[in-house]
Amino acid sequence: MEKIDLEFSKSLKKYGAVDISPCFNCGNCTAICSLSTEDNSFPRKMLRYSILGLQDRISSSVDPWLCYYCGECSETCPKEANPGELMMALRRFLVAQYDWTGLARKFYTSKIWEMGAILFLALIILAIFVVFHGPLTTELTAEGGVKLNTFAPWHQIHIGDWIMAGFLAFFLLSNVFNMYLKILRNDKKIKIPFRLYFTELISLVRNFITQERIKDCEKGKVYWLIHLLLMSGYVILFTMIVGFLGWFQTDNIYEWWHPQRLLGYYATFGLLVGCVYFFIGRIKKDKELNKHSHYTDWTFLVLLFFTTLTGILLHFFRIYGMPMATYYMYVIHLMVLFPMLMIEVPFSKWSHLAYRPVAIYFSNVLNKAKELQKS
Ligand code: SF4
Ligand code: SF4
Repeated sequence: MEKIDLEFSKSLKKYGAVDISPCFNCGNCTAICSLSTEDNSFPRKMLRYSILGLQDRISSSVDPWLCYYCGECSETCPKEANPGELMMALRRFLVAQYDWTGLARKFYTSKIWEMGAILFLALIILAIFVVFHGPLTTELTAEGGVKLNTFAPWHQIHIGDWIMAGFLAFFLLSNVFNMYLKILRNDKKIKIPFRLYFTELISLVRNFITQERIKDCEKGKVYWLIHLLLMSGYVILFTMIVGFLGWFQTDNIYEWWHPQRLLGYYATFGLLVGCVYFFIGRIKKDKELNKHSHYTDWTFLVLLFFTTLTGILLHFFRIYGMPMATYYMYVIHLMVLFPMLMIEVPFSKWSHLAYRPVAIYFSNVLNKAKELQKS
């Protein structure tokens, strides 16, 4: 029997939804949405489910992930029910639903929990450095750079990186498995041929790399470009830190055109442009997307911005031979970076980088399976 929770739309307010009760089911929002299709028709359906409290149908739906929040539907809604913001709130709700630890729900619904976790993880990093840091040498390298690897040997930091990456992968993948159970194993009447999981895999990879569906939104071109810059910058830095730290954290100061520096500069540029663009948008509130920021949106942006800023300062302190400033900035940088990755990747905003392409992949698998069943 299907569970009905009449308080559901009220409880969604904690996830950032505005009042959706004025919705009178006209369907304008679905008609205007350039991403809505016959197979995946939204956002009107999600409004009905939310108003009726049909939580299970929402939990087993991919539709909230197929919306890229262009805001067209909210602009045209005659009742100002703000369907675009509801889709955003449902994505937060779904992140909490997939997460078996319950931490995502705590972080999305309690500022104290989120701030407390950030502070706790930052203090762990501080304590590790207070106890285990290497000598604070003021001797410089032949090129005039700081001997950072004496203070924080890269091979020791790398072990920490791998442990962290292991945690992130475990939480994120187990939550993706939960998502699979809710979406693909929910309807027992649909038989999914095993081969579809392989033939549709390409859509997962393509959408993870390009997020190409954003371009199909009426106003999505600039947003897509900024999003791509930000995401590629993040992926490059994450890969260098977790995969190639020995190549990335060197005492040698290479020429500016060396691939190590060029990749670092590109990634920093992408992160900085993305952060500034989204900061300005959220402050000006000139687009639907930015009108209703949830506190977790701000937390994410602030953490990402300070990670980038401290990374830039660290780089310049290191290459211009300022040892103490470099050591302090290195610790501060990790005190921001570590909580950002540990909280945002598996439990909060950054998790959409995984959930969105996975949802598109699941949707393709499901729709193909339905087609095969009909024929
Ligand atoms: S959200 Fe607005 S546009 Fe969409 S069905 Fe409800 S009233 Fe109509
Ligand atoms: S915000 Fe844009 S993509 Fe999302 S449901 Fe509304 S019109 Fe569609």
